[in-house]
Amino acid sequence: MSEKQLSASMDRLRYYSGKLAPAITLTVGLIVVPALYLTGSIGIETVNMFGRFLAFAILAVSLDLVWGYMGILCLCQSLFFSFGGYAMGMHLALHGPLDGPGKTIPRALYVVSSSVEGIELPWFWQPFNSLSVTLLLGLLIPGVVAIIIGYCGFVSRIRGVFFAILTQAITFGAWLVFCRNDLMLCGTNGLTNFVTLAGFDLTDPNVKLALYLVTLLTLIAVYWFCHVIVTSRLGRVMVAIRDNETRLRFSGYRPYVFKMLIFVLAGMIAGIAGMLYAPQANIFTPKFMEVKMSILAVIWVAVGGRGTLSGAVLGALAVNILYNQLTTRMPGSWPFVQGGMFIGIVLLCPEGLMSIWRRWTKQSSDPRGQASDEVVHRDAIDQRSPVADQGENAEDEYRKRLARLRVMQRISPGTSELDCVLLRIEKLQVEFDGFKALDIDSFTANHYELQVIIGPNGAGKTTLCDVISGKTHPTAGSVQFAAQEITGKSETDIARLGVGRKFQTPTVFDSLTVYENMQIASPGRQELKQNLWSKETDDEGKQILDILRRVRLIDHVDLPVKYLSHGQRQWLEISMLILAKPMLLLVDEPAAGLTDEETALTAELLLELQAEHSIIVIEHDMEFVRLLNAPVTVLNEGKVMAQGSLEELQSNPEVIEAYLGR
Ligand code: ADP
Ligand code: MG
Repeated sequence: MSEKQLSASMDRLRYYSGKLAPAITLTVGLIVVPALYLTGSIGIETVNMFGRFLAFAILAVSLDLVWGYMGILCLCQSLFFSFGGYAMGMHLALHGPLDGPGKTIPRALYVVSSSVEGIELPWFWQPFNSLSVTLLLGLLIPGVVAIIIGYCGFVSRIRGVFFAILTQAITFGAWLVFCRNDLMLCGTNGLTNFVTLAGFDLTDPNVKLALYLVTLLTLIAVYWFCHVIVTSRLGRVMVAIRDNETRLRFSGYRPYVFKMLIFVLAGMIAGIAGMLYAPQANIFTPKFMEVKMSILAVIWVAVGGRGTLSGAVLGALAVNILYNQLTTRMPGSWPFVQGGMFIGIVLLCPEGLMSIWRRWTKQSSDPRGQASDEVVHRDAIDQRSPVADQGENAEDEYRKRLARLRVMQRISPGTSELDCVLLRIEKLQVEFDGFKALDIDSFTANHYELQVIIGPNGAGKTTLCDVISGKTHPTAGSVQFAAQEITGKSETDIARLGVGRKFQTPTVFDSLTVYENMQIASPGRQELKQNLWSKETDDEGKQILDILRRVRLIDHVDLPVKYLSHGQRQWLEISMLILAKPMLLLVDEPAAGLTDEETALTAELLLELQAEHSIIVIEHDMEFVRLLNAPVTVLNEGKVMAQGSLEELQSNPEVIEAYLGR
């Protein structure tokens, strides 16, 4: 076989193995395992063990939804699992052997609480007599606890390691409580003596096989449900939260609403996993609330590959099967293997086992499973700076652009359509621990006016943007926008009123493509319900493409944003702002780090934009300010030092002393 033929066959093999993977997994789970059991090759205990591991896989998928996709490391997923497990365990214990004076107390409870005088079945056990109520509570209890934890954590913006510590502390607290005998939940012994479930004998091998199949089918259903979520608009918002929650807030979203929804759904899914685990394990103890267990779930997802649903399933199954094999064959070696495996994965394969598989099948490294791979886009990466390396053509283009700019400049100043004030700042003061960062008596911006604010480093330019966009609340004074007082309003509210903000360093969503970034910024899409069902309209798509064409990003629509050049990221962020049609655009240092050609293009874009928006540009680069030819305000040590055209200011001795002269 020639080398070419060999490579073609390899490619075909890769392609089909990528396509066939889900089918093979289903065949193994649904047919091979039951067939092996029915032909006597494996015992029912092995099938039962797989059933428990599949319940762990459901738990891992739920954690991956929160951690992998939204970037929130949550260490209470095993607590939600335990709530489900306890709900089902109580139902099973109530239908097992009963003890006590009137034979009403489950044996497991009677054993640990028989010293209590006049013992009766506690009231909270009663509802678990019914299977349907148990199933409902197994979903609702984790759901309600998730709402409480989510509300406290997300609304007060607890993030990162603090959220992880908070959730770990809650789980640890629950473990301490559940270990107590006087809680009347069987203490450290846990719930035991499970005999029947819905009238079926739990010791019957056929019932065990049925439980295995039910768990497998539930895993498939959960996987499909999560797949629908992560590939939808909602899924893109989840990834956007992971990439840059702040940007999302300044685009008018309330990230906590989305976080709450996913966190609660994930909590309920973990509850389902617990309910499926309990009857297969025949015991449910507080050990699932131990610190070790929360970390274990994280290890499964990390080993498999966070941010991919199949990674979570693979990780949970692989680690547990390995654990089972090692603890039976080489007891004592497990802690070393587990530690080594975790370190090995972090060092050698940080994206988890799934990334090896993806590389083999050349599937996307993109968490949303689309075919927009690093390899596919290598050509585009090579063109990182499309305007910089084109030799003479670039020179010509640059000269033409400068000529166009000069034409546009002539129509810019003083030709506002509306002469009323859009933004009015009065007696504004901002203090940081006694240090006065801003002290502005009066500053205004009119409709359709382009203004530039300059000033030395630390003058308070970014702080002014922060105050207008709601990131920082002023110590005193007032900010009015479109005749409304906006002092003290949140970033989201101000963004929805029509203030768009570009940050000093470009803030975009790195894992999403250029087009998906724009989709997130589409106007009228910031509410949760607008992200659940409604599909993108043709008009929305057209607007996005029009703007991308204008900023010369049209050839990169499907490229993940992490591969864009610095200038392209700046333009993308500006494009996202324009798409949202804000009345006022705050643009913080748009020319920082750009080539001359890119700087001219940015100036051209801003001049074009003033036909539709008011714009405040903050800039350091004098060449750029000259290109804009707009009224300039000089800020120095938090105060407005002078206002006028750049020429006037350049001859102002005070300004020269403070800034220009240096
Ligand atoms: P510029 O953008 O003009 O370079 P900034 O607005 O970033 O300046 O900063 C103005 C001053 O306020 C600086 O001295 C900076 O150290 C201070 N400052 C800005 N933000 C904070 C903050 N969150 N806490 C304390 N000091 C701050
Ligand atoms: Mg700044």
